[in-house]
Amino acid sequence: MPAQILDGRRIAQDVRDDLRRQAEAAAHRLGRPVGLAVVRVGADPASLVYSASVARTSDVMGIATTSITLDADVAPDGLRACILALNADDAVDGILPQLPLPPHLPQRIVAETIDPRKDVDGISLRSAGNLFLRFPSFVPSTPAAVLEILDRSHIPLRGRHAVVVGASNVVGKPLAFMLLHRDATVTVCHVYTRDLAQWTLQADVLAVAAGRPGLITAQMVKPGAAVVDVGITVRHDGTLIGDVDFDSVVQVAGALTPVPGGVGQLTNLMLLKQTLAASTRSLSSGTPVS
Ligand code: NAD
Repeated sequence: MPAQILDGRRIAQDVRDDLRRQAEAAAHRLGRPVGLAVVRVGADPASLVYSASVARTSDVMGIATTSITLDADVAPDGLRACILALNADDAVDGILPQLPLPPHLPQRIVAETIDPRKDVDGISLRSAGNLFLRFPSFVPSTPAAVLEILDRSHIPLRGRHAVVVGASNVVGKPLAFMLLHRDATVTVCHVYTRDLAQWTLQADVLAVAAGRPGLITAQMVKPGAAVVDVGITVRHDGTLIGDVDFDSVVQVAGALTPVPGGVGQLTNLMLLKQTLAASTRSLSSGTPVS
């Protein structure tokens, strides 16, 4: 029997409805709209597309987005000053510095400067440490989207073997910790993993974030497994393709996210969910936000 399709668009609709209600309540409480500042350095086309999509989704929610574009050659101190100003701005609840930064700007500047209470994409040193230690924390939006899809689809994690393919700071590594904290047994694979299939075949839950179209084929998937495809590659014709060979894997898996229409639908929403949580400024008092 073909896999159940985990429809990101449908799940996103439910999440959007929940968040819209929360945004209204937060605006009422604050006496102003919840505020998100997006900081871009230079005019990288992918960043432009992403921030435009964040702004569109925020608009629907009634969250006020401010976009700040710094010159591509801004000095480290200029970027630091921008983040410090946003840290001090009471109308800004969340700050999203768009990564990657140009090569002359170490990511550490952002990771060290951003106020952890406004770090709604979980990139600060404090957030990374909180996640590692299983303290309440903001987390990167993409792994949060993976968990949201699994939870809303009632896919059990406790005691299951979760295999994560990809070990980046923004997806694979935080996802591995989030799955571990949900009591899964976690294996992390990466580009130097030998015989990838021997690991993926053991997965009850397989999450793939490698950026390699077609990496995961049906022969690499345990029958009945839940497969979440995080990968997004833009083809020459502008269409999107994931890391999982959908047509073959759908015949073997128990559940599968499509690309497009899967994880990508939830990523922005997780950012806004965390922005709403940030508007309570209660992270330090222990409100779990992931
Ligand atoms: P990255 O390039 O930073 O990391 C890729 C990871 O995959 C690395 O750890 C690497 O070791 C591993 N990898 C590469 N080739 C591999 C192989 N053949 N076998 C096993 N592991 C391999 O990428 P990233 O930023 O983590 O993004 C990964 C993918 O997820 C990309 O396609 C990206 O576009 C996509 N993405 C999607 C969303 C979304 O909202 N759906 C958000 C962020 C990233």
